Amino acid sequence: MTPEEFREHGKRVVDWIADYLADVENYPVRSRARPGEVRAALPAHPPERGTGFDSVLADLERVVLPGITHWQHPDFFAYFPANASGPAILGDLLSAGLGVQGMVWATSPACTELETVVVDWLVELLGLPAHFRTDSGSGGGVIQDSASSAVLVAVIAALRRSQQRRGVTAEPVRRTIYVSGQTHSSVERAGRISGVGADNVRVVDVDPRTLAMDPWHLDRLITEDVAAGAVPVLVCATVGTTSTTAIDPVRAIGEICRAHDIWLHVDAAYAGVAAVCPELRWINDGVAEYADSYACNAHKWLLTNFDCALLWLADRRPLIAALSSLPEYLRNSATESGEVIDYRDWQIPLGRRFRSLKLWSVIRWYGAEGLRAHIRTGIALAAEFAELAGADPGFEVHEPHHFGLVCFRPLWTDATGERGDELTMRLMESLNDSGDLYLSHTKVRDRVMLRMAIGAPATGSGHVRAAWSRIKAARERLG
Ligand SMILES: *Cc1c(COP(=O)(O)O)cnc(C)c1O
Repeated sequence: MTPEEFREHGKRVVDWIADYLADVENYPVRSRARPGEVRAALPAHPPERGTGFDSVLADLERVVLPGITHWQHPDFFAYFPANASGPAILGDLLSAGLGVQGMVWATSPACTELETVVVDWLVELLGLPAHFRTDSGSGGGVIQDSASSAVLVAVIAALRRSQQRRGVTAEPVRRTIYVSGQTHSSVERAGRISGVGADNVRVVDVDPRTLAMDPWHLDRLITEDVAAGAVPVLVCATVGTTSTTAIDPVRAIGEICRAHDIWLHVDAAYAGVAAVCPELRWINDGVAEYADSYACNAHKWLLTNFDCALLWLADRRPLIAALSSLPEYLRNSATESGEVIDYRDWQIPLGRRFRSLKLWSVIRWYGAEGLRAHIRTGIALAAEFAELAGADPGFEVHEPHHFGLVCFRPLWTDATGERGDELTMRLMESLNDSGDLYLSHTKVRDRVMLRMAIGAPATGSGHVRAAWSRIKAARERLG
């Protein structure tokens, strides 16, 4: 494709995306494709001769679109949002256009240095501790593909620090990490991947009402494990759990970590970006004093296309010590001078995309005030929904809900327990099948609850009220 051909097709693609975003509301939210349907509509063999770009766009509409679940749809409430926005899409396109692979500073100085500036900006925007800034001394931030990768590298850094401090012994030691039953599954996976082992991922109780980690039980498990010869390595506290947005008591957990010399990772994948609003900075309580690492996703609720996960470290040295490598073909004078950052030492893969471009575009386009307005809208709409559902005696709302997620369930007149759960699931499936909206579910205290996650830039009060009417009508149909 010549630059002139690119110009022609590229303009059509941008028009196509603009039309899609303008019309997204007209599609059924959840794809109705049956398993294998998309695949069956595509040729089994690749073309021998090129087919031109028009046919790609035609097949996109004919075959791909019916297999798309529309995450940017204003009635998409199923999972935490995966916000896309104009500036992020354009920033990503520029990244693709430059075609940079930013594995080390020398492979594109701007790819590294823009990332450093943007992650330092975010420290300020989110009111995070200044020692997370790269220019602060030994701290620093980096963009990862996902919060799952962020916690994996945190576990690897924590293992490294633990080995450095305790020395390597001839006897194998049992190293343990601590989560709650509400912690994201990525932490248990990080335990398995890093060799800690699933059996050594210890599950701490939660407060039965708030579903927040119980620090007293954490302390007890750690004390028992240490007495049995284990070496506790990391505790993961969550600010905004995936199931219900519960908030673990980071400060109390941090005090325990400090007393036992354990790495504290704070997973704020979804909710962390809410701290862009000063009135929500309380969610950072304890982070400045105790967090060794902190992760939040710009690619959920901060208007930045997937993937863009932010990870900060209070001390980057154990991470780099664990992950750095310098094969001959990557030796260069900039790296050897020690004056530059090579982010390949901060992540699992070697190669890296120029992700900061899209985040930079987003922050510049919206400004801090635009980002705050977006978060506040999501929270206000969630409050509006909770008020409607809470005022209806036929429904129960899980409290508290600080962010854009509301968990709720119908109270069935004649059905309790599992029979009630079955009806709740049927209600959800009928709504999701309708294509009018898309919800998901979770279990809270052993009962099925529905998750209404609000936060798409296209969602307004009218969508939330219409969703509520549909939910209510579906409940009446089911009894
Ligand atoms: C979404 C989520 C994750 C996983 O995020 P990815 O970026 O998809 O890996 C981890 N923790 C919490 C609390 C989440 O909500």
